Amino acid sequence: MSKTGKSAVVLLSGGQDSTTCLYWAKKHFEKVYAIGFRYGQRHEFEVELAQKIAEQASVPYVIHEIQTLKKLSRNSLTNSDIAMDAEKPADSLPNTFVPGRNMIFLNYAAVYAYSLGVHNIVTGVSQADYSGYPDCRNTFIKSVNASLNLAMDYEFEIHTPLMWCDKEAVWQLADELGVFDIVRTQTLTCYNGVPADGCGHCPACTLRAKGLEKYLRKKQ
Ligand code: ZN
Repeated sequence: MSKTGKSAVVLLSGGQDSTTCLYWAKKHFEKVYAIGFRYGQRHEFEVELAQKIAEQASVPYVIHEIQTLKKLSRNSLTNSDIAMDAEKPADSLPNTFVPGRNMIFLNYAAVYAYSLGVHNIVTGVSQADYSGYPDCRNTFIKSVNASLNLAMDYEFEIHTPLMWCDKEAVWQLADELGVFDIVRTQTLTCYNGVPADGCGHCPACTLRAKGLEKYLRKKQ
């Protein structure tokens, strides 16, 4: 896909995936906007990191408060009194799953895009290599895309450049986009809130490090 002359709204959380998507969007669209949310996540300062990343990329960034999500939901990402599942339980989703989150975020992103006259939305969800969150799956994205088009009588296109990428492939994409160092040193993926290479032992760090190791080995 070459530059389309069109614009896009990117969901930017300050993590590895969304930061890679921000630069992917900058490559493919003339004008890029970013949106982020404070929803009671444990490490709200990820939003400040995202702000810095957006500034550096010369992309306007708006932050919205959705604190109701935390009040309605019991999960370990927005409730620090619940210990995070170290790995996915056999019979359920990990308790880091925030029900409804991506649906709500995409809805807000669409409202923002609509107000800007923008038709493209970019999100870093992936159904490869993850914990099986249902709102990261391709069928969900296709369905919410159809619903948003109907809800606003407007043609949105939700782009998911990482949908079939494992972490190794996400590192490779960041490298191809020339932002490997930015993604490695300025993003926050760690469940314990440690930026860059993180705490080294939480599930998010383990996944990120494994992918990085595989990619660096392949590159040699
Ligand atoms: Zn960690």
